[in-house]
Amino acid sequence: MSKVAFLSLPVHGHVNPSLSLVKELADRGEEVIYYANPGFKAAVETTGAQYRRYSGALSDDISGLSKNMAEFPPFLMSICKEILDCELENIRRENFDYIIYDYVAPWGRYLSQALQLPAVCSVPIFAFNRYVFKMIRGLGAVKITPSGLYKKIRSIRKALGIRKSINKTHGLKGPKIREIYFCKSDLNIVYTSAYFQPFAETFDDSFHFTGPALSVRQAQQDHDFPWQQLGEKPLVYISLGTLFNFDKALFQPFFEAFANEDYQVILSCGGGLQPETFGDIPGDFIVQHFVPQLKILQRANVFITHGGMNSASEGLYYGVPLIALPQMAEQAVVAQRVEDLGAGIHLRKVDITPASLRKSVERILKDETYRHNARRVGDSFAPEKTGGIKKAVDIIFAAKQKWGIGKKHEAMYV
Ligand code: UDP
Repeated sequence: MSKVAFLSLPVHGHVNPSLSLVKELADRGEEVIYYANPGFKAAVETTGAQYRRYSGALSDDISGLSKNMAEFPPFLMSICKEILDCELENIRRENFDYIIYDYVAPWGRYLSQALQLPAVCSVPIFAFNRYVFKMIRGLGAVKITPSGLYKKIRSIRKALGIRKSINKTHGLKGPKIREIYFCKSDLNIVYTSAYFQPFAETFDDSFHFTGPALSVRQAQQDHDFPWQQLGEKPLVYISLGTLFNFDKALFQPFFEAFANEDYQVILSCGGGLQPETFGDIPGDFIVQHFVPQLKILQRANVFITHGGMNSASEGLYYGVPLIALPQMAEQAVVAQRVEDLGAGIHLRKVDITPASLRKSVERILKDETYRHNARRVGDSFAPEKTGGIKKAVDIIFAAKQKWGIGKKHEAMYV
């Protein structure tokens, strides 16, 4: 048995896919200490891992960050600094054998260096390399206005300033700019299939595409829900995820699009707005603060999603065609991949209107090939094809042997 620290980015989209991995590690005898915030305590503890609350800025809900994505790189770097300045010695005293950290948690890589411990990266989104970045540029998903460019430069300067200060204080080598968001390790477990991952063949052997891992969350879908209200009408499920959930205007087109249509609509507020915010809700809508998404997807005919990696994967896992309305570049890649594989429609922000939403739903309901292609992607996620979470843990255990766990590890990132 080894002792492992799991350093999460404590938001649903990053914690959820890691839970099955953590459970498998705990079931196979690892002592897992999972760093998150209180919103995830219960979910973490059901896996057999020990929950540990982050201190400082990560100790509470950080989902509001999505209101100002430009500030994300300096935010991530300031977390690195805070953890290294204030928590390093506490973490050292835990005597961990190795670390698992989230792809968007660069402090995990810093800790690996500082403590000379091997590290595994948990990748809850698509893996990124230069081909995927090129795809983003081709999609025009990153629109650079002059004021946006100014903000971006300022934010990157701030992040680099913090990196310099960490380097000076701790003598560590920080991530390159792009690695602040996509901070790979020598061993990377990606929760998707090689079929769904764009340019999978261009990633080296350190990337393992072991499929989405839903088992722990399938067992946790016990929220109250008025199932008796669902009838025979086609079910349209709408969610923009748990980060883009604060702006009423984003949800308004859905009411206009479907108020007078013959569909049953479920709209999740993603834990942000309260349903009352929307005033009079049309009869065929069920609007809830947060819903048991996996259970709903098992009955849905179409899923209108922001293209978050988890939501998209969960929909496809159950063979549900998607209409993806990406809110940021990473989601645009998901949306485009879904469209390229014929499993749904990518609607760009500028094209979202009640009419385009209605038309897209009609198209998907009429044309069976969308469902067929969604099932094909879903089939590619099956553990028989990807190896699943058991293979992910086999890979980690094989690496442990290679690393000679127990012995101090030479700094991996020099
Ligand atoms: N989710 C849920 N119920 C809701 C809304 C979201 O269980 O009402 C879950 C969903 O199943 C997914 C996660 O929250 O696992 C959202 O992750 P995703 O990567 O799709 O988007 P993010 O919230 O990170 O933008």
